Amino acid sequence: MKEDREGQRRALLESIIESRKMEAYVEHKTKEMHVCFMCGGIFYKKPGKEIGNKWICIDCLRSLKEIIDGLDQWEAEITIEKEFNERYENALKGAHEP
Ligand SMILES: [Zn+2]
Repeated sequence: MKEDREGQRRALLESIIESRKMEAYVEHKTKEMHVCFMCGGIFYKKPGKEIGNKWICIDCLRSLKEIIDGLDQWEAEITIEKEFNERYENALKGAHEP
């Protein structure tokens, strides 16, 4: 009887130790864990980069790179549109003047 109790006690102790180990492991992992500020994805250190005090995952970073690569084109489009709008407005103004 006494040995049984001792065995149970030991088993309980071991399970407590195991869960403590697990907690410590999770805590350790949580410190390395980062959340991508763009997609909200969770990743551990490697597949992400820190920008300022935010983290970004490689997928979002790749999309950003594509946007940046196409920035010249984008700027050109904006400039053309702006120019067009200005000319259009001027033409409208001109049409309303007596
Ligand atoms: Zn992301």
